[in-house]
Amino acid sequence: MPDDLYQRYQAAHRAHQMHAAACTSCTDRARCRDGARLWESFTRLQDAYLQRKRPR
Ligand SMILES: [Zn+2]
Repeated sequence: MPDDLYQRYQAAHRAHQMHAAACTSCTDRARCRDGARLWESFTRLQDAYLQRKRPR
């Protein structure tokens, strides 16, 4: 069964990395609005993925 959540988590990571590399406003400490949105969706997917990997 394909791990859809993992794929989306990886895609979100790539999307944020590509944005951060191309964006002049994004730094390690500050993000522009687009960068923040991409980062937020990445962290949300990462949390969901890690939660599922480690069930309580
Ligand atoms: Zn940016």
